[in-house]
Amino acid sequence: MEIRSIDPVWPKNGAEHFSRTKVLDTDREVEVAVVGAGISGALIAYELVKRGVEVAILDRAQPGAGSTAACTALIQYELDEPLISLSRIRSPEEAQKAYKISYEALGWLESHVGSLDQDCQFKKRKTLLLSTRRRDLGPMKEELQARQDLGIPAEWVDSVELRSRYGISRLGAIRSDFSIELDPYRLVVATLNRVTDLGASVYSPTEVGDYVFEDTTVSLRSTHGPQIRAKKVVVANGYQTPSFLRKGYGKLLSTWAVATRPMDLDKVWSDRQMIWEWGKPYLYARTTLDGRVIFGGADEPFTDPRARDALIQSKTRRLLKMMHKLMPELELEPEYEWSGTFAETEDAMPYIGSHPDYPNTWMALGYGGNGVTFSMIAARIITGMICDDPLFCSSSELFRFQR
Ligand SMILES: Cc1cc2nc3c(=O)[nH]c(=O)nc-3n(C[C@H](O)[C@H](O)[C@H](O)COP(=O)(O)OP(=O)(O)OC[C@H]3O[C@@H](n4cnc5c(N)ncnc54)[C@H](O)[C@@H]3O)c2cc1C
Repeated sequence: MEIRSIDPVWPKNGAEHFSRTKVLDTDREVEVAVVGAGISGALIAYELVKRGVEVAILDRAQPGAGSTAACTALIQYELDEPLISLSRIRSPEEAQKAYKISYEALGWLESHVGSLDQDCQFKKRKTLLLSTRRRDLGPMKEELQARQDLGIPAEWVDSVELRSRYGISRLGAIRSDFSIELDPYRLVVATLNRVTDLGASVYSPTEVGDYVFEDTTVSLRSTHGPQIRAKKVVVANGYQTPSFLRKGYGKLLSTWAVATRPMDLDKVWSDRQMIWEWGKPYLYARTTLDGRVIFGGADEPFTDPRARDALIQSKTRRLLKMMHKLMPELELEPEYEWSGTFAETEDAMPYIGSHPDYPNTWMALGYGGNGVTFSMIAARIITGMICDDPLFCSSSELFRFQR
């Protein structure tokens, strides 16, 4: 399945492409093999090589060119499932842990980006979670209180402030003070450059066609012949994870996004806050450092890539209408329009950790709208498990496969 359409903004927005790839022309043995060089694989590989682990990364395509290239990169601690409802689905303790670790993960990501010597268009932003309907106000205030009780900085914005400060006509919003915007493609390239500096190999294009599980190793057979035998394997191939490894974890959907031409946003969007909605189907939006507006949503519960891509123009029109209604002063001129497949789970939580059925195999299924936050969490947890670091292993129970 083509995981995204051909024209997302990032690979064409002045980013370098990762060029230090190798050809897998002979069999190799390695400590840890990471399948997938998207944001998950890159961050996991980095955490491992930093601790001195020998790593090889395999990707069937250009690194970063999977879902990561389609990602609109509103990187948030706020999960698609509010804290109050996650508390009911899981338990209050687990929901609180999930929100806390997601908040912490933004700090890990900030330090990671700070340690790279390449510009990833990183910026800390505030986020407005807007009410969609009047009936949202009660639960949203309850949600705000639950977050504040956890020590997460967030506050209520009423309709007067929403209109006067942001030009938005909604009844209320939760304003969170810590979210991240960046260019996810640049982040992958910068991270893989560092990973390569530290001695790891990135094999691309190298498609893993088959997994052979033995007692103490896993062999990854490439579709062009040579294989890598690893003591441990981390599967980070996103929504293209083979079904025998993914079985039933998450439901695939189609989604659409638009990036405008760069423009002067100082008058109409001076705070450059990110925006998303309490109600569904939701609209979300952010800006970029070069003045683009990126927005998306309008998800549909099907996955056929041809049908998904055929809807790009009509979904763009619909998203434009929704943006215009929300922020009428913005004059939006689309330059890039794209679609992608992504997954959601029953509780908006990812599946991260050792696979219940296959030995020596770890999975980073960073599902849903918080994919990048979860990639960061996966990097710490999986590295913790592989390197026996109790600091990070302690959170692994939250994301386990049998729950
Ligand atoms: C339109 C859209 C908007 C989104 N917006 C956001 C957002 O605002 N915030 C957010 O946090 N998340 C968002 N997401 C989700 C986010 O993009 C994903 O969670 C994230 O990119 C997943 O990264 P990954 O590295 O796990 O997967 P990918 O980036 O897909 O990387 C997987 C890699 O594995 C490789 N691969 C696959 N199969 C094989 C094989 N057999 N052998 C070798 N290599 C293989 C692929 O080529 C690919 O490079 C969005 C997703 C979409 C589609």
